[in-house]
Amino acid sequence: MSQTPLPHLQVELDKLKACIHCGMCLPACPTYRVTGSEAESPRGRLYLMKKMLEGDLSADAVGPHLDQCLACHGCETVCPSGVQYGTVLLGTREDLAQRDTSSKRKVKRYIFKHILPNHALLVIGGALLRFYQRIGLRKLVRQFKILKPFPKLDYQERLLPDLPKRKALPTNMVFGDLNGEPVSLLTGCVMDIFYNPVHWDTVEVLVANGYRVTVPEQQCCGALAHHAGETDITRELARLNIDDILKTNPKWIVVNSAGCGSTLKEYGHLLAGDPLYETRAAEFSAKMVDVMELLAKKPLAPFRNYAMHETITYHAACHLYHVQKVKTEPIELLAQIPGIELVPLENAEACCGSAGIYNVEHPELSTEILDSKMSYVKAACQGQGATTLATGNPGCHLQLEKGIQANQLPMRVRHPISILAEAYRAPQNKDSNG
Ligand code: SF4
Ligand code: SF4
Repeated sequence: MSQTPLPHLQVELDKLKACIHCGMCLPACPTYRVTGSEAESPRGRLYLMKKMLEGDLSADAVGPHLDQCLACHGCETVCPSGVQYGTVLLGTREDLAQRDTSSKRKVKRYIFKHILPNHALLVIGGALLRFYQRIGLRKLVRQFKILKPFPKLDYQERLLPDLPKRKALPTNMVFGDLNGEPVSLLTGCVMDIFYNPVHWDTVEVLVANGYRVTVPEQQCCGALAHHAGETDITRELARLNIDDILKTNPKWIVVNSAGCGSTLKEYGHLLAGDPLYETRAAEFSAKMVDVMELLAKKPLAPFRNYAMHETITYHAACHLYHVQKVKTEPIELLAQIPGIELVPLENAEACCGSAGIYNVEHPELSTEILDSKMSYVKAACQGQGATTLATGNPGCHLQLEKGIQANQLPMRVRHPISILAEAYRAPQNKDSNG
């Protein structure tokens, strides 16, 4: 790595200096809990960043510790000094990415810039994966351990959920009452391929609650690029999204993926100082809401289904709980459904180890963090009878499904909006329900 200045870290220096080294964040930090190492804690990482800025430590020495951070923001929630750790971290990652000339970075950049924003390509990839699963190839690959010589690929293959048949939401079609409050729904990339039915559930619940929903022309939100420090790509995508979405003049811009929502709400910060976009980026961020946040603003419309019986526990996605501060809304909404029993999940707001592509890049640490999470999920399932684990982020969904499978728990993972959608449907008789 060549040595160049650290402009973004320099800008965030005051935020870094707010740390009073009290250590209250240490028990809340998943990587510290697993490794016991100060260098893998929020306080330690802030110190390393400061030393790098002062020239006492090299980027090569500090970079790996920042890479191992989940960017879960769990430390911010407990910090008495209000240190905005996530902003400092992501600014520093951008600085380090810019000075990284390795081929690994070039490949990642290519994926963030040319693959993830290419939705048609993702749809084709998703269809091929589904074909691979449906014709039984996956079964053979797993049975004969064909990917064993490639442990990373094997791990990634095992992370894949059963891909649903994708039914695209038509762009610019109006759903619901023409006089309803207009909302634009963002469908994202991973969510739309892996959990596409969740979008239809989202439309159904919003329409039942009187909103007029459209799916505008849109791009990938750039969250994964931002977390990897490739924030210039995120800014490019943000400008395209702002142009496409604001022209539809929505009252609210809605998303059902916590990871996407946190970055979309950051557009105002990311484009501050951009003469053409600063104002509109701030407007965009002010209109951004997670679907649970929006539904909690007004009393829910009456449900139609009084035949639901489900014991649910709730995992709070980091980017919903710690970043967007949407903490109680999903539980409060689910609690209103007749026939639903909610049981608490201890440490519900602790990271599951998914964190964007962290589980792909750091499979061992991610698995240790997941194991810790699963000890609480197991207690909710075996001790309190939870049969559903609700969560509002596709990365957590994938990761927790893997944990449930590995622990052979009689549970399923569902997005809270899918549970609400079921409550808005007329009950089907048992035979047709299966
Ligand atoms: S809790 Fe906040 S102030 Fe205390 S060590 Fe952690 S980051 Fe610093
Ligand atoms: S963001 Fe999460 S993993 Fe990173 S230092 Fe904070 S608590 Fe630890």
